[in-house]
Amino acid sequence: MKHLLSLFALILILSSCGNEPKPETEPMAIAPKPIVKEYGFNTEEYEFVRDTVKSGDTFGTILDAHGVPAQTVFNITNSVKETFNPARIGIGRPYAILKSKDTSQTAQAFIYENDKVDYTVVNFSDSIGAYKGQKKLTVVEKEATGIINSSLSKTMEDSGLSVVLAYKMADVYAWTIDFLRLQEGDRFKVIYEEKYINDTIYAELGSVKAVYFEHRGEPFYAFNFKHDSIIGQREYYDEEANNLRRAFLKAPVQFSRISSRFNLKRRIKYYGYKLRPHRGTDYAASVGTPILATADGVVTKSEYRGGNGNYVKLRHNSTYETQYLHMKKRKVNVGQYVKQGDVIGWVGMTGNTGGPHVCYRFWKNGVQVDPLKQDLPSAEPLEEALRTEYFMHIDDLKRRLDALEFKEENTNIIAKL
Ligand SMILES: [Zn+2]
Repeated sequence: MKHLLSLFALILILSSCGNEPKPETEPMAIAPKPIVKEYGFNTEEYEFVRDTVKSGDTFGTILDAHGVPAQTVFNITNSVKETFNPARIGIGRPYAILKSKDTSQTAQAFIYENDKVDYTVVNFSDSIGAYKGQKKLTVVEKEATGIINSSLSKTMEDSGLSVVLAYKMADVYAWTIDFLRLQEGDRFKVIYEEKYINDTIYAELGSVKAVYFEHRGEPFYAFNFKHDSIIGQREYYDEEANNLRRAFLKAPVQFSRISSRFNLKRRIKYYGYKLRPHRGTDYAASVGTPILATADGVVTKSEYRGGNGNYVKLRHNSTYETQYLHMKKRKVNVGQYVKQGDVIGWVGMTGNTGGPHVCYRFWKNGVQVDPLKQDLPSAEPLEEALRTEYFMHIDDLKRRLDALEFKEENTNIIAKL
């Protein structure tokens, strides 16, 4: 995967926009000093002693250094197991000890940062207790554009951020564009969110709100739309409210019947009941019936060969491929991009076949499987009742995407895959 991804480079041009905090414009009133809280504690009330876990440190030695009696450490260790495991503090992780501001300077709590965002508070001021918390995050909206090069970039470069963004976009288009086989010149525009701690420290990538992706010259819009009535994962729809996750067509030919199913244990009388596995699903139809691509993809094979006769093979994404045999005539060429439902050839009886049919073969990760038994993603269209709201939601996003310009010069390369 890494190797394949290294075949192309993503150039992201970053520019922040819109949602940055606005300068204060209201007239100044005599306001009381604002309460500043950190990890949920008032910074005025405690002394915060900050450090990071060093090699050789244990929870016990850290607390001991701050005057916490061994018996208390023992009691803490035994009573907060569910929430905090003292044995698992990691070297380099930041922590804070909260001390009282009086002369006794008694340690009252230990706060351990599990990661950039999550922390665990071990409180032992009166009774012992532990709980988890999360730093307050601010969301900043960002825009980026990019052009894909086919140059061989060997290294995964720079920040995890941009790599994650690339993966997120690949996920958005998992059923539309094969991200392992992007073309030189493919390009995109994206509006997404970044989350910051205290407005300044980058924490993580937020959601991808809208994307325009141009693949092999074809435009593909994607807009995230979440509604209470939509259960489950995030859904992306195009500018016409079609779901981006597309299921495969039920069959490659319309008005057909299955004449032979996928069967690895098939035995044929003609061959003396020898095991002759059938790795396809046969759809009988009259000669000349159009054969349809069951999903968007790229033609990887279009040829006449032996028992297959005239056949076409499509690659849909990094997981799925389909193959269509015994065609009378093929309509597509290798390298061509086809959309779901496009005619790729016509039913015939070329190759090894007893009657007119299309032998439909379905590949998952390079292995032929029964398409009728696959748990393929369903592509529920957006309900009629939500469409008005959806189009209102995407109106501004689409306008902004369309207004974004690809700027190859001034390129701020933040990611090379
Ligand atoms: Zn067959």
